[in-house]
Formats: sequence, C-alpha cells, structure tokens
Amino acid sequence: MRGSSSCRHKDIILARRDYYEVLEVNRNASETEIKKAYRKLALQCHPDKNPGDKQAEERFKELSEAYAVLSDGQKRALYDQYGHAGVDQQGGFSSGGFGGTPFEDIFGDIFGDIFGGGSRRSGGGRRGDDLRYNLTIAFEEAAFGLETKIQIPRHDTCATCSGSGAKPGTRAETCRTCSGNGQVRFQQGFFSLTRTCPDCNGEGKKITDPCKHCRGTGLTRGQKTLSLKIPAGVESGNRLKMSGEGEPGSKGGPSGDLYVVITVKDHPIFQREGNDLICEIPVSFPQAALGCELEVPTLEGKVKLKVPAGTQSGKIFKLGGKGIPVLQGYGRGDELVVVRVETPTSLTTRQKELLDEFAREGGEDIHPMGKSFFDKVKEMFG
Ligand SMILES: [Zn+2]
Ligand SMILES: [Zn+2]
Repeated sequence: MRGSSSCRHKDIILARRDYYEVLEVNRNASETEIKKAYRKLALQCHPDKNPGDKQAEERFKELSEAYAVLSDGQKRALYDQYGHAGVDQQGGFSSGGFGGTPFEDIFGDIFGDIFGGGSRRSGGGRRGDDLRYNLTIAFEEAAFGLETKIQIPRHDTCATCSGSGAKPGTRAETCRTCSGNGQVRFQQGFFSLTRTCPDCNGEGKKITDPCKHCRGTGLTRGQKTLSLKIPAGVESGNRLKMSGEGEPGSKGGPSGDLYVVITVKDHPIFQREGNDLICEIPVSFPQAALGCELEVPTLEGKVKLKVPAGTQSGKIFKLGGKGIPVLQGYGRGDELVVVRVETPTSLTTRQKELLDEFAREGGEDIHPMGKSFFDKVKEMFG
C-alpha cells in the first residue's frame, strides 16, 4: 500500500505562496532587503544554472513574480492589504461586491491615503481576521483535482471613505479624553494604571462626521468570488491557505488569510487507504471456483480482470497505478480489488439437489483449506 502513511498528514497546502515567504523575508523588510533576498535566491535557481530542472524553473518564476510585486511600492501596498487579489490582473475585486467598478477606481483613494500620509506602514495597523471556508467535494474531485469558484462573504474596505470611517473631505479628530494616546491613566489605590481610552477605544482619534456608507466603521459587507485550484490527491482535513484573502486589516494593516477546509464525500464503491483505492467485488461461488473475467470499475472507467479458477474469498488483485495521484508529488497509488465470494441464498429445490450431489461427489479434495483446517483441529483434540 504505497504512500498510505505519507498521505495522512494534515499539512497546509499553499494554493499560492505568500510573496514574503517566497522571498524569505519578513513583512517589514526594506526595499534593499527585498532586493538582496531576490538576488541571492534568483541566482541559486536561475534557469541558466539549472538547465532542464523543472523545479528550479518553477521556483525562479515564483521568485520573479514575488519580486515584481514587492519591489513596487504601490503593488506591495495593495498586496499587503488585499493579498494576491490586490495585485492579480485578472479578476480580483471586479468580480466582487462592487458590481464591476474598475479596479483603479476603487483603490485610487487608498493610494492617496497610503502614500499621501508618507509612511505606508504607519504602525499599529491591525491585521485582518483569518477566515475559514468549509468546502465539500466529490471523491473523484479529490482524486483528480478541481478548479472551482467559491463565494466568500466578508468585509471590504469601504470604497467611499477608503476605510478611514470619516466622511470624505473630513478627518478623524484627535481624541480629547486621551489626547490621542489611546490610553488613559487612572488611580487605583497606590497604583497609577493605564487602560484603553473608553472614549475612542484606544484609537486616539474620534470620527466626528462618520462616513454614511459604512457608518464610520470603514468596512462594508461584501462578497468575493475566488477562483480555487484544488490539487489532485487531497483528502478530508486538508486545508488550503490563501494568503491575504481573509478579512481586510484596519489602518493599513495586512489582510488575514483564508483557509479552505476540505471534506471529501464518501464513494459508493471505493474506499481510500492512503493513495490506494479499495474496491470489494462480489463474485458467485461458481465464478470463483471455475474462474471468470470481471469488469472492474476504476476511477477512469471499467477494466477487465481475470479471476483464475479456485480463487478464494478475500483474495486481493492489484491494479497498479489506478489509485489516487500523490498530492503535490509524482505517481499514483494502486487499486486493490478484493474478491468476495458470495454464498448462494434462496435456492430452488433443483439447486439444492445439485449442491447435495456436488458435495457427495467432491469429498475432501475440493475444499483444500477446509481439509487442512480440520486436520489441525484433529491434531489439537485427537
Ligand atoms: Zn466609509
Ligand atoms: Zn481617546
């Protein structure tokens, strides 16, 4: 049962790797650090240095893609906030809750905000929440992979106020209670303690004229359609992580991640054991005794299987390479066909007579397993 143990893992599958992960830098890396990391890694897996190496080629492509985004201030800001969707040319938000508003229109204001303010990472930006999406797929879809679209209900940054929560043209005012510190001091016995300012909830700012569209929250409820590529060989419990596809962060903080949790439906005739498929096939007693040719179902249609004369119940026939593809690897498991010999029921009188005759005719020679078993019992009890 090849691969049966290696497939049990519950690893996170990266549908698309996080660009910062790809370049092996942290999220606060400077432009120089990103450039340095890219040069170092790109040199290692450059196609010229690794002729014919597919993996190196893929890695090089991935690096270049990540670098193209993270080395560009605008793209990086979008990526930080919206993940891959923010920098994907095709799709992204235009298919989301904005009824096809062109991409730039939605984000134009955000650019102004982010860059006009000077520092892109003004600090204190809260990362958005992670989202979980449960996806049930058919057995065959798990076996061969699937491209599908899912609709994620989630919050989006309010397009009217660019997420600030303040009515366009107005600004949040510094909170008077805490003088913009977000914390207030208070006395408890001998101690002077600080706590989050109750007036502004620690924001340090108060919106006096809230955006009507989002009622000052800076977020609107939306739906987003995401294209999902589920690799062949997944099983129940596998998670696909989509970096940056969770809830948007607040105040320039990065978006959370989306986790798609896979449940695979049972199959009416196949069972899965690692990457192997198990299929039990009932055969009649005459078929097993005389031998026969069976039509065996596989994931890709029927194949013929020769069952030799004298096949015992429980005998396993292996169809090499007819199992489940190895997840993110090469090759496939096998299909194991288990033959189950059925004892006939509802016999006619004639059939009973024939079986009686059959038994008298055969003696002990026709059931070799039974013979050796009863020999052993004889040895035990004499
Ligand atoms: Zn708003
Ligand atoms: Zn305050």
